[in-house]
Amino acid sequence: MSPQSETEPLADAKSVDLSGASPIGGSRNLGKPARRSGKKLIRRQFQDRSQWVRHSVQAIFAMLNLWIGIQFILWTRYYETAGKSPYVSRPAGVEGWLPIAGMMNTKFLIETRSIPQIHPAAMFLFLAFLLSSILLKKAFCSWLCPIGTLSELLWKTGQKLLGRNIQLPKWLDLPLRCLKYVLLGFFAYVIGSMSAAALADFLHSPYGLVADVKMLNFFRDLGETGIIVIALLFALSLLIRNFWCRYLCPYGALMGLASLLSPAKIRRDAAACIDCGKCARACPANLHVDRLVQIRSVECAACMECIAACPAQNALQFSLPPRRAAEANDRWRSLVITPMAVTLVLACMFFGFVGYAKATGHWKTNLSRSLYMELVPNANQLSHPGM
Ligand code: SF4
Ligand code: SF4
Repeated sequence: MSPQSETEPLADAKSVDLSGASPIGGSRNLGKPARRSGKKLIRRQFQDRSQWVRHSVQAIFAMLNLWIGIQFILWTRYYETAGKSPYVSRPAGVEGWLPIAGMMNTKFLIETRSIPQIHPAAMFLFLAFLLSSILLKKAFCSWLCPIGTLSELLWKTGQKLLGRNIQLPKWLDLPLRCLKYVLLGFFAYVIGSMSAAALADFLHSPYGLVADVKMLNFFRDLGETGIIVIALLFALSLLIRNFWCRYLCPYGALMGLASLLSPAKIRRDAAACIDCGKCARACPANLHVDRLVQIRSVECAACMECIAACPAQNALQFSLPPRRAAEANDRWRSLVITPMAVTLVLACMFFGFVGYAKATGHWKTNLSRSLYMELVPNANQLSHPGM
């Protein structure tokens, strides 16, 4: 294929920056016209499929969570109707929605070197997602997390309906981004200050045993305040890209910190880049992809939207550190992490940890039906052991 030189038309900015400030620290004035370097564009040889692959993985994981959710509701109904509803077994995967139990059990495992008996699946899933962040940046957030998927759906819907999303001014964006670390710090402090015995006591208390049912009841019995808060989050998520993930999610904050260890990063080859700025405009995290050589930011979720938007061959890659070779093709050979490779690594992490837990008999919380019959219908009356 012969290299083709052409002037690339600039895409319209789809996010409006309300800051009016110069782009610093991960936010970019998207209202400005993009720079043109005058470099020749060597067009990509193959069509990018990253978003098709990623959206497929997101859809599969969302369906899995939906199936787990339905099965869990049917399981609770069996106990709430005193056995009059058909019995279905409890899906242990529901513990993926108990990240605090996952962190508690991880600390218990580290301190006692024994696998906890209550909500062990929460720990195995937590470890799988944490390891995936160490290997593949915050890919958990943009490839697997159902809340991340919902957030993405909402801001893209908002963009379609309103023509653009809002980018908060830097003076508001920065302090808001700290909120998720404050929440994470709070949970880390509470869990970190508990001994292994205290952690076991908490998880074996009636409250801890049915923490999953209490979480379900929270959403089933939303009061007026809860409905207003969730409606507000939905509205803000329509207006602002990944509002929940960017500002409030402590789990994403932890995955972001773990992602600092990741050898895989979005990397830009300045020699191949034509400085069109399309990558930065496409980035949901508002990162300066078009100006940096590699993206170290804790906000990068390895979504590859920037790569999908880039028109230039070999300019942008999700890769391991490149070779210092003269030719661009040699520089990236066998170091690029393709969307299929991301899918494969995530699948290995997920099925590896789940498979190990199942094979060693540590996947399920084994409690008797008579105990659940006592606890599940009365879950709302159970209060936190420390209260
Ligand atoms: S830098 Fe690229 S991969 Fe990272 S969040 Fe932005 S668009 Fe996604
Ligand atoms: S890396 Fe970004 S700025 Fe460079 S060519 Fe690709 S989209 Fe344009």
